[in-house]
Amino acid sequence: MNLNPTLKTKLNISDDSDFSIHNIPFGIYSDSNVKHHVCSAIGEYIIDLFELESADVFDLNREVFTKEFLNEFIELGKPITNKVRAKIQELLSADNSVLIKDEKLFHSVFKKQNAVKMLMPVKVGDYTDFYSSIDHATNIGTMIRDPKNALMPNWKHLPVGYHGRASSITVSGTNFHRPKGQQKPADVELPVYGPSKLLDIELETAFIIGKSTQMGESITTENADDYIFGMVLFNDWSARDIQTWEYIPLGPFLAKNFASTVSPWVVTLEALEPFRTEGYVQEPKVLPYLEYKGIKNLDIKLDVFLKPQNGQDNKICSSNYKYMYWTMEQQLAHHTVNGCNVNVGDMMASGTISGPDPSEFGSMMELTWRGTKPIKLNDGTERKFVNDFDTITIKGYCLKDNIRVGFGECVATLLPAK
Ligand code: CA
Repeated sequence: MNLNPTLKTKLNISDDSDFSIHNIPFGIYSDSNVKHHVCSAIGEYIIDLFELESADVFDLNREVFTKEFLNEFIELGKPITNKVRAKIQELLSADNSVLIKDEKLFHSVFKKQNAVKMLMPVKVGDYTDFYSSIDHATNIGTMIRDPKNALMPNWKHLPVGYHGRASSITVSGTNFHRPKGQQKPADVELPVYGPSKLLDIELETAFIIGKSTQMGESITTENADDYIFGMVLFNDWSARDIQTWEYIPLGPFLAKNFASTVSPWVVTLEALEPFRTEGYVQEPKVLPYLEYKGIKNLDIKLDVFLKPQNGQDNKICSSNYKYMYWTMEQQLAHHTVNGCNVNVGDMMASGTISGPDPSEFGSMMELTWRGTKPIKLNDGTERKFVNDFDTITIKGYCLKDNIRVGFGECVATLLPAK
């Protein structure tokens, strides 16, 4: 599938864009004329699907493209959303397409991405965070417990997770203040209150539920893909000092619920299919409800950059989604095995994605080994954790046989405590 040469020239689209014709993600944008429209992307452009549907190309009520979030579009179901995606690809590749013939339509449909504001793509009802990277779990277990027994006894038998907070998930470009809270430094007897001193990032992805279930229903690993609409990049900001003091016995609470940042484009599972790859071998054998057939991991290259105020980007980590031990299909099967229902727009994050090499660690906690090995930046300064006014950017893309499907960026700047 190739972009029509006339369109390619007219729009000046480069071959190495995250938003190739193979991608066609979905998002929500606004600008001075548009409050919120559903859009897709090609190269440096957004494709306004409300405007495009004025030509009646999808045979849909175009009201669905005026909504604040993608939820109602997603609820139409994969048979329709996949058809919309395929139709966009067809219109972009055909040489007799309305997009080429109709000059007025062309100008109303395409807008430069840097001239619009991307909004939160979905209304997140419930958010779950897993802990499914074996290298990450081993690193954390080694640091805070015992290197010989880094993984808890349950870890290889079930995808460990917890229920997070949906209200503070914000779209890329939304800055936030350093959280305050209780901490108990090792050398003092009583807890203290104040701004977190150990503010960390977590390199993650998240998948978005595309089909709801009823209470009592379970999703199997075999049909899980029907329920996964697509994926976004996810930075699960974490206050390590608050976490260390509060997490026993029920797990993370205020250390995690103050902010998480997502990328604005939802890349569909269908766009990611060509990049399936083998994951880690699961040993010991998992219980039957967690067994799955086929190749279910994904080769998604993930990079993290830290930019000090008025400084340059420093790449601090290069990881890959393929290092996940548990697949999304297993996570969803486990999540619903007890009859827990899921809803369209629910977000399920991977957990920090670390690889085996120290350059592939997905959090500052691991990269600096709890602050004992600071990262040297190109301006000569060092970081143990994130400083005020540092900007963190996550980028992610798949590349195979010259086909590129990417997520764009997930960016936020940490502001000082209020
Ligand atoms: Ca996390």
